[in-house]
Amino acid sequence: MAYKKILAAVDLTDEAEQVLAQAQETTQQNGAELSLIVVVKPITQVYSGFDVAALSADAAMIESDAVRHAQRRLAEHAKTFGIPDKRTHVARGNPAREIREMAAELGADLIVLGTHGRHGLGVLLGSTASGVLHGCPCDVLTVRIE
Ligand code: AMP
Repeated sequence: MAYKKILAAVDLTDEAEQVLAQAQETTQQNGAELSLIVVVKPITQVYSGFDVAALSADAAMIESDAVRHAQRRLAEHAKTFGIPDKRTHVARGNPAREIREMAAELGADLIVLGTHGRHGLGVLLGSTASGVLHGCPCDVLTVRIE
């Protein structure tokens, strides 16, 4: 079965290039359409336990800056890989959940994301990859990050 709609999840680190290269190759092999997503975590999730309530105005500004930064980086990746802007998505929230929800919304049949070769069963997949697998609406291709 050929995949028709592929969603690649990228963070803002250098590993995005590896994930995108694999996603593009799989997209071309399948004659599919590739979309991209970056998820910006709420500041309360990044600094859990930190009293951000007292800093809520600053927190909102930092989050808006983070979203703008994510949009810029995603636009650069999209340009490099020839993906139209309308197929790039910046979401806010829990990365695994937002990636799954975007896949369902787009009707994607494959999600591509990275995993790290850490040791021990519990962390074998990495937190985002294992989170995406829980209740995932479609297939998942994990790219081992070197
Ligand atoms: P990690 O949870 O750090 O092991 O992340 C592994 C992979 O999950 C990354 O290579 C990305 O493909 C994906 N990922 C992690 N965080 C995000 C994010 N905030 N937005 C989109 N994808 C992400």
